[in-house]
Amino acid sequence: MDFDLTEEHRMIRDMCRDFTTEVIAPRAEEMERTGEYPYDIMARMAELGMMGIPISEEYGGSGGDWVGMHLCIEEVSSGDPTLGALLDVTTSVVAQELDVFGTEEQKRRWLVPIAAGEQIGAFGLTEPDAGSDAQSIRTRAILKDGTWVINGTKQFITNIGLDNAGLIVIAAVSKRAVQGPGRISTFIVPKDAPGLILGKRYEKIGWHGSATHEVIFEDCAVPEGNLLGDPAKGFSQHLSVLQTGRISIAAIATGSAQACLNESIRYARERVQFGKPISTFQAIQFKLADMAVAVELARNQYLKAAWLKDMGRKHAFEATVAKLFASEMLEKTASDAVQIHGGYGYMAEYPVSRFYRGAKVLQIVEGTSEVMRIILSRELGL
Ligand SMILES: Cc1cc2nc3c(=O)[nH]c(=O)nc-3n(C[C@H](O)[C@H](O)[C@H](O)COP(=O)(O)OP(=O)(O)OC[C@H]3O[C@@H](n4cnc5c(N)ncnc54)[C@H](O)[C@@H]3O)c2cc1C
Repeated sequence: MDFDLTEEHRMIRDMCRDFTTEVIAPRAEEMERTGEYPYDIMARMAELGMMGIPISEEYGGSGGDWVGMHLCIEEVSSGDPTLGALLDVTTSVVAQELDVFGTEEQKRRWLVPIAAGEQIGAFGLTEPDAGSDAQSIRTRAILKDGTWVINGTKQFITNIGLDNAGLIVIAAVSKRAVQGPGRISTFIVPKDAPGLILGKRYEKIGWHGSATHEVIFEDCAVPEGNLLGDPAKGFSQHLSVLQTGRISIAAIATGSAQACLNESIRYARERVQFGKPISTFQAIQFKLADMAVAVELARNQYLKAAWLKDMGRKHAFEATVAKLFASEMLEKTASDAVQIHGGYGYMAEYPVSRFYRGAKVLQIVEGTSEVMRIILSRELGL
């Protein structure tokens, strides 16, 4: 076995780490406070090729792999997890779905600008009455005279509210007669399509920098050619890219937890109580040791899942383990980080409070912890 990163992987990690330290981390608190996305930072991330790491050069990417992409997501998330989420949705989910299932024409039209970082993508599966039970979506697409007419509502949609969002890839029911997942197809809907209405922006308890919106389709018309992939396999297409999204969620959690650990070590060395730095108290040391264990295991697992994906091997079990473990460990790690900071940890300007508020969401998005356990139970043959 070889646990060493390749030279290329180390370069990606170090480049993303330096960029995060110098550019992202100093702005993260402001993003959280104002809820405004830093388009200048996104433009620089695009210049560095971060949005297209695993996409081939032919389609505007860097021709790298999924290990490299996830090292990037981890590093970026250690500065600000909402930018990690932007990369997850744009690259791991939307770009990948276009890359794997798109026609040559669709790739030229939609994938190239995403991989080059000129546009970002959104992903629309969740609806008011269909979350974990995603097969029960009600958004409908009906083909009329060479145009798909879409009606329905998607909720909790990441990225679509940002100015540089170019499209949303959605799941919609296209076959009334068929039962089960075979009735669901995938469609590319340009953000400026007639009938796409950007609904309310949700107020969240954390991740304020990330724009989360409702999207309404009212007789929204897209050309027949915007059907993505096999019309009877839209649901399984979505599930296959969400498998990669789960590795990305694990990388976001790992980066967030690493930041909590770094901040906590720094603070514990500086903070003096009873005449000594609190880092000399065993109660604090043990918390830090447990945090280090959690981060190490989460990192190993997401890298294993990404590596298996790069090898073209099955990785449903490993990706699910990575998502479940990393998202749950982050909640405890971020809580311990706040505890080590004492009262200061509860103050908004301390980074650990931001990571703590944002920790919970990773147990919900792209499949809840309960759904992860259902998948794992199935993998165990139960
Ligand atoms: C900040 C944020 C961003 C998001 N971004 C996107 C996005 O970009 N695109 C998108 O499509 N969606 C997005 N989502 C939606 C997210 O994927 C869903 O919230 C998630 O899948 C859960 O669905 P739900 O909220 O409807 O919860 P529900 O499915 O209603 O679940 C409620 C509770 O019941 C549990 N539960 C449900 N079914 C079972 C079962 N069979 N057994 C045991 N327990 C069960 C769940 O685990 C959960 O604890 C986002 C959500 C958030 C919070």
